[in-house]
Amino acid sequence: MNTPLEVRNDTAARALTLCWPAGETQRVDHARLRAACPCAACRRLRLGGAAPALAPDVMLIAIEPMGYGVQLSFSDGHARGIYPWTYLEQLGHGKDR
Ligand SMILES: [Zn+2]
Repeated sequence: MNTPLEVRNDTAARALTLCWPAGETQRVDHARLRAACPCAACRRLRLGGAAPALAPDVMLIAIEPMGYGVQLSFSDGHARGIYPWTYLEQLGHGKDR
């Protein structure tokens, strides 16, 4: 599994920065991360075509290491999503769901 060397929350740019061992650096917008939350509740909403209305200025406020990924907490109070590294890598490449 590809694990980033460094994970940084760039609050000024509202992006999560991931530095991968191959030397690549990815940036994923906070709003994009929130919209792609992989928790069961959010996934169910997206599958049903009823994606929740999200504030465009939602921010990532905390990163909790989980071994195979990170648990992300957002400024709207949502903190249920655990983002595996592979999922973040996909988001950084512009591929989601
Ligand atoms: Zn969620």
